This record gives sequence, structure tokens and C-alpha cells, in this order.
Amino acid sequence: VPETPDAVLDGLDPEQREVALALHGPVCVLAGAGTGKTRAITHRIAYGVRAGILQPATVLAVTFTNRAAGEMRGRLRQLGATGVQARTFHSAALRQLQYFWPKAVGGELPRLLERKVQLVAEAAARCELRLDRNELRDVTGEIEWAKVTQTVPADYPAAVAKTQRDAPRDPAVLAQIYSTYEQLKRDRSVIDFEDVLLLTVGILQDRHDIADHVRGQYQHFVVDEYQDVSPLQQRLLDLWVGDRDNLCVVGDASQTIYSFTGATPDHLLNFRTRHPGATVVKLVRDYRSTPQVVHLANGLLSQARGRAADHRLELVSQRDKGPEPVYAEYPDEPHEAEATARRVRDLIAAGVPAGEIAILYRVNSQSEVYEQALADAGVPYQLRGAERFFERAEVREAGTALRGAARAGRNDSLLDGAEDLAAQVRAVLSTKGWTTRPPAGSGAVRDRWESLAALVRLAEDFETAKPGATLTDLVRELDERAAAQHAPTVQGVTLASLHAAKGLEWDAVFLVGLTEGMMPIAYAKTEEQIEEERRLLYVGVTRARHHLSLSWSLARSPGGRASRRPTRFLNGLRPGSTAPGARGGAGGGGTGGGGGIDRGTGRSAGAAERRSEAVERRPRQPVRCRVCGRTLTDAGEMKLMRCEECPSDMDEALYG
Ligand code: ATP
Ligand code: MG
Repeated sequence: VPETPDAVLDGLDPEQREVALALHGPVCVLAGAGTGKTRAITHRIAYGVRAGILQPATVLAVTFTNRAAGEMRGRLRQLGATGVQARTFHSAALRQLQYFWPKAVGGELPRLLERKVQLVAEAAARCELRLDRNELRDVTGEIEWAKVTQTVPADYPAAVAKTQRDAPRDPAVLAQIYSTYEQLKRDRSVIDFEDVLLLTVGILQDRHDIADHVRGQYQHFVVDEYQDVSPLQQRLLDLWVGDRDNLCVVGDASQTIYSFTGATPDHLLNFRTRHPGATVVKLVRDYRSTPQVVHLANGLLSQARGRAADHRLELVSQRDKGPEPVYAEYPDEPHEAEATARRVRDLIAAGVPAGEIAILYRVNSQSEVYEQALADAGVPYQLRGAERFFERAEVREAGTALRGAARAGRNDSLLDGAEDLAAQVRAVLSTKGWTTRPPAGSGAVRDRWESLAALVRLAEDFETAKPGATLTDLVRELDERAAAQHAPTVQGVTLASLHAAKGLEWDAVFLVGLTEGMMPIAYAKTEEQIEEERRLLYVGVTRARHHLSLSWSLARSPGGRASRRPTRFLNGLRPGSTAPGARGGAGGGGTGGGGGIDRGTGRSAGAAERRSEAVERRPRQPVRCRVCGRTLTDAGEMKLMRCEECPSDMDEALYG
């Protein structure tokens, strides 16, 4: 614990110190990734409390996750400041609501709804719709979006049209489910998560006596990650603050990656207009990453467009030079995964702790091939924000169905006419509602489809590696892989989606699968969606302290058509590429530096090589349609690896 209040300011740079000393009036900190914004506001509160300027009980610090709130309380304690409320919007509102409900409404606060999705299912059933679990999750997510953007059912269709959202259902139908769901909640006197904020807002708006009471208690407000604030949270914040102005917000518009949940950086970017007297501090010194990593992050932002990009801040690394980012191109995904696992193993051998290494990808279904490669290499790992591939509900369900089909064998009418292993898998999965054509848009239905598509690919690869294998062999293989993945691990390498990596940092970061179709993801269509994808890559790059690797593969599987291209976001940044808008071809302005692209066909005799050798040695296989599995005879079709009749969406959606 620092001995004096002034000692709390030690270890802050001049701009961070300015933030810590601006204890009155509105303060807005516009800060890039890794510039110490969380550190600056934590020290600000601690300094104010230790110097006797802020009464701890009157300070409300708001963060977006319980983990972040807990971390802030911990840091405050270390700095000798106790008694400050550090909470999420939700927990702060719930506390107030419980306190004021008897006076404002009478009786006890209604019970919090535990099984929201079940009630949405009931509402859908009343609208004569039977939705499966994943469709329900998507519809539920959409209702949540409507509520946090304060959109009532009647206004929902217009809001969809205005924001160009990919609604999971016809907007008129969704509005009907939404309104029925609200009615059901009223009938049963239960409230949901969003109602906690909505009801608090309603009471503070209508009851001035109660609003005054709350304002009497809290006089200083601090909000971290302000770029992620939803319109509803902003409304609540406005009511808390009232006509006072002791509000300090921190954010980075370039890290807005949750706009699909209603978050918007507009509040951050409009802060100065709303609070003309605000102290605005910009932090540009990056304490997290090496100059090389920061150079690439700046390069990515320099190509960004849109409102957030107009406010980008050039970061200046405070660290010593480190290694150049590694750009690596592989012939196919197994090569990419196995080379990545090999590099991870080398780093660990060189002394980098496994817990300081992360492999980040765009969608969770990409994890499987990396889980496998790490398991093969004997490297411990853990998944963040997602279930391990073989533990996902849909993969477990599919496994059960495949086991059942393997037992039923040839007598099962389902398998009639299915002449090869992958076609049998497709046939079994079709009973689980899996279609070869990907569902439109993003969300749980799409995630489930992606996992099952990954399972089909796994079956195809297994069939290629082991010609003549049966469904029973496949089931055994799946069980073995699941068991290998299941091994408990401590402090392993982190596998995470880019979304789940936000706010975290590692010594070494591998950004993998950086192909068009994955980055940007195929369903990102509008310029806004594309820009959010670019910000996602920026978030990924800025997680790295020292080592950064960016990789992609040209085909999915060994021997497949090399039709993929590296992400457009690295054009002009990776060596040998041309900047967007620049004329001329190869050799254009690669500003990323570094030793060129590692065409990682692999020199060492790793598992990837053994696997591809096995592929080369196998007897020539008939070429089959990648969608329906039919054996192809037409030369044109064979080249495409797809029949004329089969849709190409699957390839395009998945592989760009
Ligand atoms: P993000 O954008 O990812 O949320 P942030 O801006 O909140 O990042 P912090 O997490 O506060 O950044 O800090 C990033 C890293 O830099 C941390 O490891 C922190 O300890 C370190 N750091 C911040 N400020 C300083 C400083 N003045 N001197 C030394 N290290 C610092
Ligand atoms: Mg932070």
C-alpha cells in the first residue's frame, strides 16, 4: 500500500496523472489499447479517497463484467482505498431496485426469471411457432437487443429496417413473440435481466423523491470501457448523474466490437458535445506491446473508415524493440494448426510460460483443429468463453446419434444409398436438422451449424487418411479425440475467439485462420459490419505484448483446392502485399517490416508432414462432391469438387 496519497500517483505518466488529479467536473479519457486507462481511473479513485477529496461511499465505479469489477476492487484495496462501490451496471441497478421497490411499487421485487429461453419458447408456441433450442437462443438474443435499445415490440420492425440488422426471424413475427413474452412475464410476475435496468430507469424517471435519494448517495461516477455502453445503460447513467457533472468515462472507439448487442461508441464520441466543459485527456503511450506490434496496430487503424476511425489515436510504444510479427501462409488448415502448435511448443521450451500464450480465432468452431494439434504436441491448453469442441451440446448430440447409427449398421434405412463414411455422417446429421446450406446471419443457429460442419470435415479427413474406415471406426476416433481434449489442464495455452480476448494480454499471440470469409467473416456485408471486423482484428493484434504471429491457409484440407486468400485487412501491411487503392502488383509497399512471409510448408517432420505423406501415399480416391458426397465424374465438377446442383454457399461462407 502506498504510504502517502501522492505516492499513489507514482507510476503514472503525465497524462494519466492529469486524469487522476481531475477529480471534479466531467472527464473523458480517449485511450488506445494498452495505454493504461483502467490503471489511470483506478489510481484516480484511490488518490481522491486517500487525499480525503472523495468520500468512498459516494463513488460508484461501473465496469462491464463482474470479473472487471472484482479486479478493480482488488486494485483499489492494494492502493489503500476501501469502501468504494465497483459494480456492473446490472448489479448496481439491482441493488437500488431491491431497496426502492417497496416504496415505489409496493410489495416485494418480483422474482428474477431464471429460465428466460423457456418462457420465450412458450411465447413462440402461443404464436404457433415451434423453435429449436438454437433458434430460441437467437430469438431471445434479439429480444434482449430490442430491450437494451429501448425498442418496444410495436417499433421493432422499423428498428430492424433502420439498423439493417440480420433479424433471426421475420421482424413482424419476432415482434409478436416479443410482445407475448412481455405479457407472459407480467402474468407470472417475474422480471428478466433487462427489466432490472428498465424498471430502475422507470422509477428514477417518475419518482423524483427516489431519484433525489439515489443522487444524495452517489456523487462521483466512473465508467470503464465506455465505448460499449448501450442506450439503456446510458439512460440509467444520466439519471444517476442528474444535473451534476462528476462523471469520468474511459473508452477506445477503435475497440467497439459488440455493436450487435446494442453497444455504440456514439456516447463516448459525443461526450464533449454533451459536456462542453469536460476535461479531455488522450493517452497514446502504449505500455503493453513492442514497437513492432504497435506499428501493425497503427497500420490497421490507418486503413479504418467510419466514425470510430475518425477518432483513432496513433499509439506510441513505450517498450523495447521485440521480434517482428511473423506472417505465415500454409497450404492447408492441418498444416497451419500443427505448425502453430510446434511454434507454441518452441516458445514454451524457450521459457515462455504456457499461460502467457494465446491462439485467437474468429469463430469458436475454428478451435477444433487447434485443440487437436496441441493435444498431439502434448501442449496443455484451455478454452476461454467457449466449451471445448467435443463438449458442445450439438457435438455431443451428434456423437450419440452417430454411435446409434454405427450400432444399427447397414439395416438402418437412413443409411441406404450412402456409400461412403462422410455421406453417412451427413445423413445422420440431417436427422438432427443439419443442412448443407448454412443458415443466414450470425448467432447460435449459425454457431451450431459451424460446429456440425466442422464435424463433417473431420469425418472427411478421417476417411481420406483411412480409406475403408467404417462409421464404427469414426466413432472410436471421435471418442479418442474427445478423451485427449478432456485431459484436465492447469495454466495452459489459451484458445479464444477474438471477442472473448477483449481486455486481456499475453506475451505471445497467434492470430490464426486470417482468410477472407473468416476475417472479415462471410456474413459481414455492410461497410459498418466490415469495419467492426477490422476493429476485431485490431483488438486481436493489441493483445500481444511481445510475440505476434498472423497466419492463414490456402485450402482447407491437404490436397484441397487452394482457393482462399489472406484477409484484405493485411493488404499493404504484410510483406509483399499492395496497399488498398495503390496501383501496381507484387512487391508493393509492405510496411509491416519483418522477414517476409513464411511459406510454412514445414521443414520438420511434424505430425502435419506425416499426415500429408499418408495422404500422398494413399491409393487414388474417387473425387466426391464436398456438399452431398456424390462421386463425381464430370471434369469441371471434379475441379470444383462440387456437383452442379449443389449450392456453393457452404464453401463460400466458410472459406471465402
Ligand atoms: P485495454 O484497452 O486492453 O482495456 P487498458 O488501456 O485498460 O487496456 P491497462 O490494462 O490499464 O490498459 O494497462 C495495460 C498494461 O500496461 C498493464 O500491464 C499495465 O500494468 C501497464 N501500464 C499502464 N500504465 C503504465 C505506466 N504508467 N507504467 C508502466 N506500466 C503501465
Ligand atoms: Mg482496460
